[in-house]
Amino acid sequence: MLIAGNWKMNTDLPDGTALAENIAAGIDDADVDFSAVDFAVCPPSVHLQALNEALDGSPVALGAQDVHAEEEGAFTSDVSASMLTSVGCTHVILGHSERRQYYDETDADVNAKAHQAHAHKLVPIICVGEMLDQRKAGDATSVVQAQLEGALEGLSVDSADELVIAYEPVWAIGTGESATPAQAQDMHAVIRDDLADRYGADVAAGIPIVYGGSMKPWNAEELLSEDDVDGGLIGSASLEAESFLGIAEEAVGVLEGAAG
Ligand code: PEP
Repeated sequence: MLIAGNWKMNTDLPDGTALAENIAAGIDDADVDFSAVDFAVCPPSVHLQALNEALDGSPVALGAQDVHAEEEGAFTSDVSASMLTSVGCTHVILGHSERRQYYDETDADVNAKAHQAHAHKLVPIICVGEMLDQRKAGDATSVVQAQLEGALEGLSVDSADELVIAYEPVWAIGTGESATPAQAQDMHAVIRDDLADRYGADVAAGIPIVYGGSMKPWNAEELLSEDDVDGGLIGSASLEAESFLGIAEEAVGVLEGAAG
């Protein structure tokens, strides 16, 4: 299970550092055994270097929220893949709906960034998900399939640890209204099938497909219990160590239940 936090444009450096330290300490001090959970946090890029130090020795991986598709150059305000790896990043969120909505990011952009991430051994966390009107029109599956088609074109994935897909229905992000477990499972199964066609069933079986959209400690168990839900990409509930780790505790409970 992957439990990843997307902090978006939240926290200043002291608060972000304290949050990272509280997460690391919470994992260390907990009565719960978190060893079966993979953790990642994706803070604002100006925090990355400090958090690389704050998280040193902890099991929490560091991710960025975006990357530029080019190596370097005249792209004011953007951040390159080698900048990210140089401050300890192992993951990068790509194609978040807020990037698509506010910055007109297209599937082709996401694809170019995914190739660039791979060239630098960064694991892309590729976000897909339909808008509410698309779901109401019965188009949710075709929208997500088209996003996968565009974002993954030509991207070779030989092992499951090279890619993460986040299914984030746009209507569930930041709204307090999550998808139902059945809605999440149905779409995750569609995504798994798509990945199996591209990369083979064995690799696809291991690629984490995480759910994002108003996941909280109180609804995490039912979502994470679904067969094809391999974790969460968590927005607002990742901004407090207690709720972030509360979701991770639910993940542990689900894994222990599955192990019998
Ligand atoms: C997100 O933006 O990736 C997200 C899932 O946000 P929230 O958990 O706040 O809905």
